[in-house]
Amino acid sequence: MADTDNPLWFAADEILVGGVWHRPAGEGLAVLDPSTGAQIATISRGGPAEIDAAVAAARAALHGPWGGLTAAERGRLMMALSARVIERADDLARLEALDVGKPLRQARADALALARYFEFYAGACDKLMGETIPYLNGYTVWTLREPHGVTAHIVPWNYPMQILGRSVGAALAMGNACVVKPAEDACLTALALGRLADEVGFPPGAINIVTGLGAEAGAALAGHPGVDHVSFTGSVGVGRAIQTAAAANLVPVTLELGGKSPQLVFADADLDRALPFLVNAGIQNAGQTCSCGARVLVERSRMDEVTARMAAAYEALRVGPALDDLDVGPIISARQKATVEGFLAQGTDLTTAACGQIVDGAPEGGFYVAPTLFTGVGPDHVLAQQEIFGPAQVIIPFDDEAEAIAIANGTQYGLVAGVWTSDLGRGLRLTRAVRAGQVFVNNYGAGGGVELPFGGSGHSGHGREKGFEALYGFSTLKTVAAWHG
Ligand code: NAD
Repeated sequence: MADTDNPLWFAADEILVGGVWHRPAGEGLAVLDPSTGAQIATISRGGPAEIDAAVAAARAALHGPWGGLTAAERGRLMMALSARVIERADDLARLEALDVGKPLRQARADALALARYFEFYAGACDKLMGETIPYLNGYTVWTLREPHGVTAHIVPWNYPMQILGRSVGAALAMGNACVVKPAEDACLTALALGRLADEVGFPPGAINIVTGLGAEAGAALAGHPGVDHVSFTGSVGVGRAIQTAAAANLVPVTLELGGKSPQLVFADADLDRALPFLVNAGIQNAGQTCSCGARVLVERSRMDEVTARMAAAYEALRVGPALDDLDVGPIISARQKATVEGFLAQGTDLTTAACGQIVDGAPEGGFYVAPTLFTGVGPDHVLAQQEIFGPAQVIIPFDDEAEAIAIANGTQYGLVAGVWTSDLGRGLRLTRAVRAGQVFVNNYGAGGGVELPFGGSGHSGHGREKGFEALYGFSTLKTVAAWHG
C-alpha cells in the first residue's frame, strides 16, 4: 500500500460535489465484502438534493475553471490522472477486490485499464477536429465539435473502474463536466478516483461523485433537467427506465446493457487456441460480465470433444476469496447470488457436464457459486436465452453454418460474438451475418483494448463507448456558415 495498510485510505462516506468532499445528513448504506459477507465501510445515501447540487456544480465548472482550459490543458490533467492511477494500481486493485469480490489480478487489470482509458482520451483531447464544407460562393462553412455540457454517468458494480474510465474519460476529453452515480454495491474505487483527481489538480466540479441508491440518486440524475447527456451501463429494465426519464428532457442517452453472447465453434476450429477463451469468457469476474460468452455453439462433429475439454477445465476451476486470487471469486451480493442460483435451479432437466470447486476454508458468509457447465440445452431454454450474470455456460450443437447463425441471432440481445474457424471466408461471412456490436474471429474480446468501440444492438443497448467513436457520442456538432460576400 502506498500510504497505509488500510485499504480505505479515504472517507468512504463522503461524496464529491463542486470540489468539496462532504457527508450528507441521514443514514448511510453498508458496503459488504462479497468474499466474507462482512461490512467493510459505509457510504453516503445521496438523493435528489445531492444530485441537484452536483449538477449545479458541474454547470458552474463549465462556465469556470474547467470550461476555461484549452484542449491540451485538459489532456495534461487527464494524463496526470492516468499516471497517478498507475502509481496507485495495487491500492485500487485491493480496494476493488474487497468491494466487488474480484480476484486480485483481475482487479489490477481493471485499474490498469482505467489508467489506459485516461491515457487514450488524454491524447485525443486536442485531436478531434471539424471540417470545412464547400458551399455557395461568398460563404465559408465549417463544423465545430462541442461538449454536450453536463454529462451523467450511471455505473454498474461489475467493472466499476473500467466503465468509469471509458465513459468519464471520453466525456472529460470532449470538455464535458461529469456527475457520476456509482453502483451502491461497488462505489469505493470511484470515490478513490475522485481523491486522485483532486491530487492531480482537476478543477472543482469537473468530476462530481454522488453515491446512493439507483431508485433515489440514480433516478434523480437520469431525469434531471440540468443534465445534457446520460451514459448508462447496467440492466435492461433500468436502461428502459433511464431512457424514459431522459426522454422527458429530450437529451441523448447511451445505453450499454446486457447480453447472451454466442461463441461459434466450427469443426475446423483450432481448439487448442480456442479452449482458454471459450472457458474464460464464461467465468471471468464470476460470469458477471456483460460480454460473457455464455452460449458455446459447437458443430456437432466436435461436440463431444469440446464438451469433454471444457468440462475438464471447469473441474479444475477453484472458487474462493478475492484476495486469494483464485480462478473465480464470489458473486457481488447475497441478492445476486440468489438470482444466479434461481437460474441454475432451472437447469435440473439438463445434463450438468461439470462444476468448479469452492475451496475448503472459503468464508461461510461469502457469496460463492460453483461455476456450472450445462449440455443438453435447447436454444430456446431459459438458460440459453436469459442473462444469468453468474459463472454458467451452456453448450449447444449445430449442424451447419445457417443453423449456427440462426441460433446465434436467436435472442433479444446483440452485444458480442466469437467465431472459431480456420476457414477465413467463413470467418468473414460470419462477421456480417451475426447480430452483435463486436465480432471476434479466432479470439474473444481482443484483450479488451480501449481503442475498440463497444456497444450493442437490440436489448443490448445503443450508442458506442470506448475508442475514438465515444468522443462523437460525448459531443455535439455545430455547423457554422459565415457569409462574407
Ligand atoms: P442495474 O441496472 O441494477 O444498476 C446499474 C446502475 O443503475 C447502478 O448504479 C444502479 O444504482 C443504477 N440504477 C438502478 N435503478 C435505477 C433507476 N431506477 N434509475 C437510475 N439509476 C438506477 O445493473 P447492475 O445489476 O448493476 O449491472 C448488471 C447489468 O449491467 C447486467 O445486465 C449487465 O449485462 C449490464 N452491464 C452491461 C455492460 C455493457 O457495457 N453493455 C457492462 C457492464 C454491465
